[in-house]
Amino acid sequence: MKNNIKAFLDLVKERNGDEPEFLQAVEEVAETVIPYIVKHDIYYGKNILLRMVEPERVITFRVCWVDDDGEIQVNRGYRIQMNSAIGPYKGGLRFHPTVNMSILKFLAFEQVFKNSLTTLPMGGGKGGSDFDPKGKSDNEIMRFCHAFMGELFRHIGPNTDVPAGDIGVGSREIGFLFGMYKKLRNEFTGVLTGKGMSWGGSLIRPEATGYGNVYFAQKMLETKNDSFDGKAVVISGSGNVAQYAAEKVLQLGGKVLTLSDSSGYIYDEEGIDEEKLAFVMNLKNVKRGRISEYLESYPNATFVKGKTPWGVKCDIALPCATQNELNEDDANTLVKNGCICVSEGANMPSTKEAITVFHKAKILFAPGKASNAGGVATSGLEMTQNSLRFKWTREEVDTKLKDIMSDIHKSCLEFGEDEDGYVDYVRGANIAGFVKVADAMLAQGV
Ligand code: GLU
Repeated sequence: MKNNIKAFLDLVKERNGDEPEFLQAVEEVAETVIPYIVKHDIYYGKNILLRMVEPERVITFRVCWVDDDGEIQVNRGYRIQMNSAIGPYKGGLRFHPTVNMSILKFLAFEQVFKNSLTTLPMGGGKGGSDFDPKGKSDNEIMRFCHAFMGELFRHIGPNTDVPAGDIGVGSREIGFLFGMYKKLRNEFTGVLTGKGMSWGGSLIRPEATGYGNVYFAQKMLETKNDSFDGKAVVISGSGNVAQYAAEKVLQLGGKVLTLSDSSGYIYDEEGIDEEKLAFVMNLKNVKRGRISEYLESYPNATFVKGKTPWGVKCDIALPCATQNELNEDDANTLVKNGCICVSEGANMPSTKEAITVFHKAKILFAPGKASNAGGVATSGLEMTQNSLRFKWTREEVDTKLKDIMSDIHKSCLEFGEDEDGYVDYVRGANIAGFVKVADAMLAQGV
């Protein structure tokens, strides 16, 4: 078995070169899915995983735009159309200076499994640009988004590929992108998700990734007859995912101790309550400020510069910032400090070594492709409402989101439960996600 996995990974490495994040994501899947393939004749010998690691289509393009000083800027745009076996490509756009092929391929690959887990008919894709939105004016953001869509529109459509937001792409950017798509195509369709409420967006979509993550963690805690009530919760990030994870934790009676951004983290021993969270939401979404500004209004908190919050003693950790933000040392510290549950809101925030630590300690650990799937699931619900030309209420969408997170949890149990009763949610999510896509690929032929 080890030989099979190693040979496969060597081949993927050889074919893709230096793409560390992509190889990390593939390795995590291969280690759990290859043993399953070997045991099942319908998948064995069909190179099914090798087909899945090869994107169906990769589009890269030049994005030129004019900044406020009249200078011409050049960025690179991407769309990875990874797998369309079970539905149109679906996945976010990330605008961040670190964006490159490796990061987008890892995200697109994860998306295939995640979207499959949602039970909705969505294939997987991801895109974005190395454009850095930090410090840009609204007009610059608009010109960049318009230029980006000036090429992307050729490759997407409501039945082909439906992008959404990710890091650096929120409702403002989706608005500008949608405006340009509509102009170029003269069509009003659900080609993007995360739209504004007055023009086809779904209620609960902004909240969905954060809420969904907490709903998933709630399901994990229930397997131990436990809940969020009275728990100390450490959250990283302060964007959309972290904000709504914090909101839901508060609603369920937990205490939120931290939030962070790339400059460091704030630790509020008294807890970040609703009022303080509203301050953070305004700071990040409207003022686009740094998390350290929290101290100006709440001086009892502390700001720890340049660090992640994993050293803060907690019961539950929700990594909601970015990939590889939680390493082996952090995992050891969390376990040593008594953390019982880690549920990923970001995509692949824990390193491979960190996950091994959680598994060895037998604490509850959920990989992002399961626990953060609520975002794309609600995007799927937005697509449905757009196709129906209809709008569901907040309660209707929230109930569907809860049901989907509960179904994903069930799938993880089905494929991830060990003989001793410990649930390996990584294995569960990978195999459950794989089976649906693989079956569709096999049915459709080579
Ligand atoms: N970017 C989000 C994710 O990582 C959402 C994607 C979507 O809604 O299409 O799942």
